[in-house]
Amino acid sequence: MRVGLIGWPVEHSVSPAMHNAAFAALGLPWRYTLIPVAPDRLEQELAELKAGGFRGVNVTVPHKQSVMPYLDETSEAARAIGAVNTIILRDGRLIGHNTDADGFWRALREAGYEPAGKSALVLGAGGAARAVVYALARGGSRVSVWNRTAGRARGLALDLQKVGLTLSVVARLSDLELADVDLLVNATSIGMWPHEDASPWPATLPIGAHWTVFDLIYNPMETRLLAQAAAAGARTIGGLAMLVHQGALAFELWTGKSPPTDVMLAAAAESLEGR
Ligand code: NDP
Repeated sequence: MRVGLIGWPVEHSVSPAMHNAAFAALGLPWRYTLIPVAPDRLEQELAELKAGGFRGVNVTVPHKQSVMPYLDETSEAARAIGAVNTIILRDGRLIGHNTDADGFWRALREAGYEPAGKSALVLGAGGAARAVVYALARGGSRVSVWNRTAGRARGLALDLQKVGLTLSVVARLSDLELADVDLLVNATSIGMWPHEDASPWPATLPIGAHWTVFDLIYNPMETRLLAQAAAAGARTIGGLAMLVHQGALAFELWTGKSPPTDVMLAAAAESLEGR
């Protein structure tokens, strides 16, 4: 059986190492491959996947939102978030899911953070931020969002309002009452390889020792932001745990089997360390 990743570009992905290690550990004759798909070929590629014996695919940049009109069905979470990162192919039908939200949630809970009744500040308003904000707001957190392009954050607030969830948009980080923050999430790409020296958090603003700081970036595994947070005494969570959990949820959707997350974590970490 075949599964894979559609995106443009896709060659830096650690998903093949992670999923193929899990298939091998369970003795499943499945194969996960990279499928580079240029934006103007998306519709055609989906038709070819239907004919090509695929059980499903993961979806990454730039197709997470643009893929939605071509799907036969979408999960409630994918519709609320407005993005799909996992597709199941069943009886010639394409069914879209978003496992980023639950992947984030599992990683957060696994680290011992209880989101209900707490205050979260999310940096970013792209596809990943949408999933994070949905998970946190649905889980009972008060959510504030800052984004470089404020209009995008306002668009996210309006979309979530449609499913009964609220968030506040922050124009300037310096205006925030930082003592009220419990969780800071970086869902921007600032600090990602090859710009590891950059941080989304201004050096002029403090980080609370009582904060939990979650950086979605997993390459590098130890980002500049996480180093700042650790130096301030905050609890830190890196993006690798979320990567593994979103992958494990996709694995389960495709195979119906419980994935070996420890094997997936080791394979993803090894793949990242080898870069
Ligand atoms: P998008 O391209 O959809 O969004 C990028 C976000 O980063 C936007 O909010 C954008 O702001 C912001 N941004 C980019 N460059 C800058 C900059 N120089 N200054 C300020 N803001 C900036 O990407 P995704 O949402 O898909 O991914 C975001 C990050 O999350 C990536 O690093 C990705 O690797 C990571 N990720 C991790 C996952 C995991 O499992 N751990 C899963 C998915 C993503 P603006 O709107 O103003 O352009």
